[in-house]
Amino acid sequence: MGRHRAKLRGMFQTTINREAFVEGVGLHTGVHGRVRLLPAPPDTGVVFRRVDLDNFPIEAHGHNVARVSYATSLMKQGVLLSTTEHLLAAIYSCGIDNIFIDVDNIEIPILDGSAEPFMRLLDQCGVRRLRRKRRYLKVLQPLEVIEGDRRVGIYPADEFRVRCYVDFRHPLVGQQKVEIAVGEDTFRHLLSRARTFCFERDITPLREMGLIRGGSLENAIVLTENGVMNGPLRFPDEFGRHKALDLIGDLALVGMPLLARVEAHKAGHSLHTQLVSRLLADPSLWTITTAGQASLDQELSTPAQIAAISQSPAAAD
Ligand SMILES: [Zn+2]
Repeated sequence: MGRHRAKLRGMFQTTINREAFVEGVGLHTGVHGRVRLLPAPPDTGVVFRRVDLDNFPIEAHGHNVARVSYATSLMKQGVLLSTTEHLLAAIYSCGIDNIFIDVDNIEIPILDGSAEPFMRLLDQCGVRRLRRKRRYLKVLQPLEVIEGDRRVGIYPADEFRVRCYVDFRHPLVGQQKVEIAVGEDTFRHLLSRARTFCFERDITPLREMGLIRGGSLENAIVLTENGVMNGPLRFPDEFGRHKALDLIGDLALVGMPLLARVEAHKAGHSLHTQLVSRLLADPSLWTITTAGQASLDQELSTPAQIAAISQSPAAAD
């Protein structure tokens, strides 16, 4: 039954069932914002609307990516919306294809610094299946973006997987590697609770740059030289998990579900969004298909086939 339902959800587009609302302060601007999620018709995609600017729409799509440093911002015709990645990670992982996100300010609230409050919000909304086939972007050729020792790459695969590697010189961080097959359950249990983090030594420089005006010990893990200012951590590798969450939120800007494996090595929002832009700019690298992860479910009919998949290189280590 659960598998049958998952299959149906994979084949058809979805939206949310009912509205829900959340509010809070923006991490970087410090402004108070209200976010309302609303159902949307088939083929709408994920669309932010600035209700303070006559419902000006900003599609969650790679062609609207603005400057990106410590958070991902969207900009369209000069209208900006900041820090979209945690909300988009939740929406994308839950397989919501069509949704309006009404916002009354310039930044999505940071809440507790993780995607968990957005998962609770989506739980309030529920999911509704629409009578329109879902379309997937299936990657056919690899693409990599490299800057020094930082890189992110996307590779052909039959399901959406991410692998994220971080390396920070800090006794609580060091090298952390996180890999998941992205879906609602895996995202909820493994990634959604992982919070934003920053280093205490960076707070003053960031403030001087006009950033993290809304930052506090309630919405970000603050790392001191040797420890953490506001523990306990939710996971020993909360940092790596949060990076994977950010990566998924940025990949959501592809604008449709992905059939691809993505690997990020010491990357960040800038590399993630460059990957999305370059991928979208080169249609020879991908195809659009309505046969998505649902077809994988159907193909995996025998235990031998399932074992073969679980031993594939992508699933190992
Ligand atoms: Zn983040």
